[in-house]
This record gives sequence, structure tokens and C-alpha cells, in this order.
Amino acid sequence: TLSDKLDLVFKKLRGQGVMTEDNVKDALREVRLALLEADVNFKVVKDFVEKVRTRAVGTEVLQSLAPGQQVIKIVHDELVLLMGGSEDNSLDLAAKPPVAIMLVGLQGAGKTTSCGKLAKYLKAQRKKPLLVPADVYRPAAIEQLKVLGRQLDIEVFNSLASQKPLDICREAHRYATLNGFDVIIYDTAGRHQIDDYLMEELEGIRDELAPRETLFVADAMTGQEAVNVAQGFNDRLGITGVILTKLDGDAKGGAALSIKAVTGKPVKFVGLGEKLDALDVFHADRLVSRILGMGDVLTLIEKAQATFDEKEAERLQQKMKKSGQFDLEDFRSQLQQIKKMGSLESIMNLIPGMGKAMKQMQGAQPSEKELKRIEAIIDSMTLKERANHTIINGSRRLRIAKGSGTSIQEVNQLLKRFTEAQKVVKQLQKMGPKGLMKGMKG
Ligand code: GDP
Ligand code: MG
Repeated sequence: TLSDKLDLVFKKLRGQGVMTEDNVKDALREVRLALLEADVNFKVVKDFVEKVRTRAVGTEVLQSLAPGQQVIKIVHDELVLLMGGSEDNSLDLAAKPPVAIMLVGLQGAGKTTSCGKLAKYLKAQRKKPLLVPADVYRPAAIEQLKVLGRQLDIEVFNSLASQKPLDICREAHRYATLNGFDVIIYDTAGRHQIDDYLMEELEGIRDELAPRETLFVADAMTGQEAVNVAQGFNDRLGITGVILTKLDGDAKGGAALSIKAVTGKPVKFVGLGEKLDALDVFHADRLVSRILGMGDVLTLIEKAQATFDEKEAERLQQKMKKSGQFDLEDFRSQLQQIKKMGSLESIMNLIPGMGKAMKQMQGAQPSEKELKRIEAIIDSMTLKERANHTIINGSRRLRIAKGSGTSIQEVNQLLKRFTEAQKVVKQLQKMGPKGLMKGMKG
């Protein structure tokens, strides 16, 4: 994966204080390869890498991040920006009901399935959607949507395979207006390739319905080809957004980047399985992390960066470097940092595999309340004791318990926990940051 490769680059870059043309070159080569591997269109990759180079070279190196990590962060940020960043990618239903949504795309892309998913999504938002089968070519296509409608308890317009698609759409619109439907979702026919006949038919439907949304359904597995297909549909129909299906498979989802870069149209939803609830609103940063192959580690880095007191971090680092020591005072200051960063659980959930691990060791992590008590206990120790807890004898434990309003059992437990934490820290130091990332990914 990219993160493995960038680990190597990390190694080379670590210790170099400045970002130069030279030391970002290797990192950018890996980024380029990773994007190509994720099936991002080569032209898109070329432009993108240029952008990152311009931004990276000459940047001051942050104290808290290695240059390699910093390049990744720039890559990540630029990719998110390319995907629309914090633009509003939500479904646009701002029109007079019944609002028309039309799904288009090649055969097998997942149009019919996505129609069902979308209807379920809208129903959950208290909308009243009508599903309309307008694929009269593929045998059983109408029945497929009817089956989905029955599963969802959502009405499916009674189209007949003998009708013309345009007539079906007209009738369905009239029916929906008369019966108080909010949204109409049109399932259209696809072909294995873009052809003129299909496009003309879809244009006719579009002109008739003036859909608020024309969503291009793209199979994430299609790879490089996805660009041309998306462009074809966009040129003829003026798509308003994209549903990227089959992201539950091996595909990295690079197609999403290419389609957005080439058409300028946002990905609005992703399909994550055959089941009808396997639809997610699109999140640029999730897809980018997936393409970069690093879970939400970047979110974690950012969160940590934003809240971690830099001076404090440096002090700790210097100290551990010098003495290899980690004492109760450090322990407490780390607890404080953790508190600043939000709940332990939310932090742990950002690390791939860690959320699960946390659940398995349920109860092993202190709650907010416990954290307060732990702090109180440490506050009741002398500085000497904080620097070396082994000098704390029985009578001192009792005094500390009294002073902090806790019990001697709690003091004992803390010291035991701390001794274990010390061991872990020593081990982590041996592993180094690279090993740490690996360990976290499990
Ligand atoms: P259409 O020809 O565009 O209408 O495509 P269909 O909706 O009939 O889907 C084609 C196949 O892809 C079916 O077997 C679906 O179950 C499957 N499919 C659709 N969306 C997804 C998805 O997000 N993930 C997975 N794994 N399969 C999907
Ligand atoms: Mg279909």
C-alpha cells in the first residue's frame, strides 16, 4: 500500500529539516504510483502531483511532523480539495414536488440497486418516494425494481415492458402528482457501452422530466475507463452528481477522483454492498484515506496536532530521548492531552482496527470520571514521588489516598497501571513511529 511505501520515504526524509525539490521528489513518485494503482486517470494524476509539488517545496517543516508525513498531509488535503472539500454534496431536492431524480449509467453499474437504496434513504427522511422502472429492454428489469419496492414497502410504478420509456415517465409523473409523492426516482436502461440510441432516449426523458438530479451511477471497479464514460454521459445529459458503487470490493475508488476532476460533478453517494442499506453519503476525506491506504490516521494526526500542546510534546520527547524515562508527571500530562483531544473512544475509533480492539478490552480504559480521580491522586504526590514512584511506600500510599479523597486500593491500582504503561512506552520507543503505525493498524 501507499503507506508502506511512504514509510520507506519517511525513513529517508526523517531528520531532514527542509522541504526541497529534491527531498519531496521520492515521496511524490510514490504518490503518483499509488494514485495510478488506485485507477486515477493519468492526466488527473499528472496535474495533481504538480500541484502538490508546488505547495510542498519551500514549505517550512513543522516541528511536530516528519517531512514525509507532511507531504502526505499535503497530498491528503489537496485530494480532499480536488474532491470538493467541504462543498455541499447533498442531494438537491429544492424543487416543486414531485422532484425528479434520474439514474443513468452503463449496464450492471448498479442503477436499479441504487434506486432502491436511494428510495430507502429518502423514506428514512420522511419523504414519500415513487420508484419508476424505465428500463424496458433488459428482461426482468422492471420486476427487479418491483421486488426491491416490496422489500422496502415503497411503491413502484406499474410500468409495462411494452411501453415506451418516455411514455412511462410521463405517466409516472402524472400519477405521482395526483397521489402526493415528494420524489420520483427513475431507473433507466443501460448499455455495455455508450451508444447514440440510448443517449437520445435518455435526452428525451431528461427534456420531458427536467430532473432536479441526474445521477451518474459508476462502478468503482471500472478503472481508467470510468473517465470516458462519465464524460460521455455528462456531455450528453449534464449530470448533476455521481453514485460510486461497489466500493465494498477491492477497488480503491480512484475513479471518483477522475470523474470529479474531469466532469466537475460531485460524488454524492457511495454503494457499499448489495443490500439496500449499503448506501453512504459521500465523505471526501474517507475516500481519500482509502486511496492513500491509511484509514483515518490522518484525521488523527490532525486532531492530535490541533490540540496537542506543542511545547509540552517537545518537552516530553526531549525528556524521553535523554533519559528513556517516563514518570508519573508525564503520565498525568498525557492524560490531560487525551482529555483535550476528546473522548478516548472517539480517538481510538479513528485508528484502523483500534475501535474493535477497544471493545474487546472493554473497561480497560479509564472513564472521564476515573481520569479525574487519577489526576487527584497524582496531585497528592510529592514531585520526587512523581519522578520515581517506586519510593512510595505503604504509609505514603495511605496519605496520598486521604489527600486525594480516594482509597488506597485506587492508589495501588494506579501505580500498577502506571508500571504497565511505563513498560508499553519503553516498547513503543523501541519500535519507533513507523512500528507504532503498523502496530495500530493491527
Ligand atoms: P444496473 O444494470 O445498473 O441496474 O445494475 P444493478 O442494480 O442490476 O446491479 C448489478 C449488480 O451489481 C447486482 O448484482 C447488484 O447486486 C450489484 N451491486 C450494485 N451495487 C452494489 C454495491 O454497492 N456493492 C456490491 N458489492 N454490489 C453491488
Ligand atoms: Mg437495472
